[in-house]
Amino acid sequence: MTHPHAAKLSYRLAWLPGLVNLSVVALRFLERSAGPLVDLLIRVTLAQVFFVSGVLKAANWDNALYLAANEYPVSWLNPVSAAWLGVLIELLGSVLFAAGLATRLAALALAALALVIQYNYQTLDTHLFWVALLFWFVVRGAGALSLDQLLARGLARTAVPFAAATLGLCTDATRWLAPLYALLLRLWLALAVLAAVAGFAIAASNGGTMDVAALLPVTSAAAFAAPLPLICAALLALGCATRPAALLLMLAISTVRMLGAGVEAYPYWFMALALMALWGPGPLSLDALVERALRRRFPQLAGQPAFSLDDVPRVVIVGAGFGGLACAAALTRARVAVTVIDRHNYHLFQPLLYQVATSGLSPGDIATPVRGLFREHFNVRVLFGEVTRVDPVRQEVRMDGQRIAYDYLVLATGAAHSYFGRDDWAPYAPGLKRVEDATDVRRRLLTAFEQAEVTDDPVEQASLLTFLIVGGGPTGVELAGAIAELAKFGMEKDFRRFDPAAARVILVQAGPRLLPTFAEALSQRTRQALEKLGVEVLLDSRVESIDDSGVMVNGRTIAARTVLWAAGVVASPAAKWLGADADPAGRVKVGPDLSVPGLPTVFAIGDTALANAWNGAPVPGLAPAAKQGGDYVAQVIRAHVEGRPAPAAFQYQHLGSLATIGRKAAVADFGFVKLHGGLAWWLWGAVHLGFLVGLRNRISVMLDWFWAYLTYRSGTRLITGGAGSQKTGQRHAANTLPRQGAA
Ligand SMILES: Cc1cc2nc3c(=O)[nH]c(=O)nc-3n(C[C@H](O)[C@H](O)[C@H](O)COP(=O)(O)OP(=O)(O)OC[C@H]3O[C@@H](n4cnc5c(N)ncnc54)[C@H](O)[C@@H]3O)c2cc1C
Repeated sequence: MTHPHAAKLSYRLAWLPGLVNLSVVALRFLERSAGPLVDLLIRVTLAQVFFVSGVLKAANWDNALYLAANEYPVSWLNPVSAAWLGVLIELLGSVLFAAGLATRLAALALAALALVIQYNYQTLDTHLFWVALLFWFVVRGAGALSLDQLLARGLARTAVPFAAATLGLCTDATRWLAPLYALLLRLWLALAVLAAVAGFAIAASNGGTMDVAALLPVTSAAAFAAPLPLICAALLALGCATRPAALLLMLAISTVRMLGAGVEAYPYWFMALALMALWGPGPLSLDALVERALRRRFPQLAGQPAFSLDDVPRVVIVGAGFGGLACAAALTRARVAVTVIDRHNYHLFQPLLYQVATSGLSPGDIATPVRGLFREHFNVRVLFGEVTRVDPVRQEVRMDGQRIAYDYLVLATGAAHSYFGRDDWAPYAPGLKRVEDATDVRRRLLTAFEQAEVTDDPVEQASLLTFLIVGGGPTGVELAGAIAELAKFGMEKDFRRFDPAAARVILVQAGPRLLPTFAEALSQRTRQALEKLGVEVLLDSRVESIDDSGVMVNGRTIAARTVLWAAGVVASPAAKWLGADADPAGRVKVGPDLSVPGLPTVFAIGDTALANAWNGAPVPGLAPAAKQGGDYVAQVIRAHVEGRPAPAAFQYQHLGSLATIGRKAAVADFGFVKLHGGLAWWLWGAVHLGFLVGLRNRISVMLDWFWAYLTYRSGTRLITGGAGSQKTGQRHAANTLPRQGAA
């Protein structure tokens, strides 16, 4: 543990590393995102200039020959060869350059052409900029958005002759020449500004002895004839505060109103300055000296750990669900060593599990590997394993025979299904909690349709085509709507011996209305929307037994071969591990700061905790509640570690409840606003996409939804797995907790 005085001191200076981190993040973001984009824009702009010129010459060959013979002859080439070579470079070189293929070579050829034009034909600032910008790519290569970059990795390991050697040469060229080039570019731009202001441009145009205009873009540099740009140019030359200086000069050139000689070179000034602003002045600069000093003080600038993990407090987080991940993410910049343990190597987005179960999405769309989420955070390690015990006296958790010590423990182990004490129903009525549950439900659903095609017995076929869902909360409603739609629209031409649209979908709810945590009017709308889809809604109906032939509801047997459970959940055994007080659903009763009474450094959050922090009422079992709990506990731990006062007691902020009914209706209850129908559906889609973890998953889900929305076809109607996975999620099925709304 850190000494309290040292902790207090580091708290007072806490803003400094924060500022440094922020600058590093901003600069890296600029280099990684804007940098490649600007490189590409410059390549395309330059390529377009040469390509158009090449096309015009190819279309008017006599003119091309005339130019090669009279306007810019090359002494060592006859005009015909020169014209051919010029057009070839302009057309082929520009295409390669724009695509970023053999970029250095293409840029070199185009730069040679630009030099011939500048010195044999017309002296213009634009020609000089072409050369300067093209050499940027000769020295540094094409950047991230290019074919070169795409192919380089594979090419280095192929048998293509000289591939590896060429790539090595390119890397060396960048290493050795890029610093020199950056220095020359800075000096060149700064000298042009100084020369323009000092009157060299006039001297040159008056036929003075020193033809500065042939070497420096002095004509256009006249735009900077004001004190501030002059200072910026001087800073640029020194490489001092280069990025802000380049930005100010960009601002100056974009606001200049002067239209006259050199105006066509302004966009190129802008490009060259943008390169300086994005990539910095290079190592031969004052900025680099300052950076080296800063790196010694703040090692994170050099991509190294900002502090040693040896003597910092250890935070162990069990569970990489919504709560655990939020807590770990909020501790990535704190002086603590975080260990995240989960029995799966992925974070699961449970709200969309029903879409995997009904073939709308693939499991990979809603699961994100946890390890990848913390790749960039040196103080977070991820362990794959199942926690089976906690020893609060020794401050250890037990995981697969290992002991993991902690100073702070966060239990975020979620919940499982509950069968109201009837665990014998589990094999016949699986619930949805894990990926395996969803693929098992999918297998059962699709197998029922397949078997209905095989059987000759109409009674068996009817039972196979009856799907019964127990529980009218959000999951039950969503499952019923999705199954009805799959049967009605998703398979219309797939079977020969029955019409899938005739399948019965029955939703059984024990209470008097669906979605009991939503406003009553929305429950009514939900029922109407489901009935419109053909779902039979049975309210005030108690399930009395379930077996392989069907379900007994209010004394009546319904023959259904596929029964799904969406009725209740029970907390993980965290309370038992700690020997702590729990409610009938097994949730650990926590204090106002979410710590376990008597164990101030042990916290329980999310579905596994009972916190009366929703204006005195229990916090609901929802993803946002778990996330808010995770964030809050991270704040408590940070405050403790940094010697600050603890934050005020946890207060859950309810963001609203959402549930979807098929592909065009949903209900949304925000308290003061209640929505239903299409608008609510779009809102539901946007919220779920926003909450999904990982860009890849967001894009993939969006594409899947879009495709299914337009075609009614889902690409994941696969029957996988076997009967072994039928018994699902019933480890902790002693007590029940009804699911609250969904947000
Ligand atoms: C089908 C379904 C649909 C839902 N729909 C919605 C919705 O639309 N909107 C909404 O807001 N909420 C919804 N919820 C509820 C929401 O998913 C939960 O409230 C939320 O996941 C709780 O987060 P958590 O961090 O407490 O637990 P979880 O997200 O469940 O995470 C618990 C983690 O702990 C791990 N774990 C458990 N035990 C151990 C152990 N012993 N060792 C190691 N790791 C362990 C698990 O693998 C898991 O990764 C839905 C839930 C389900 C099941």
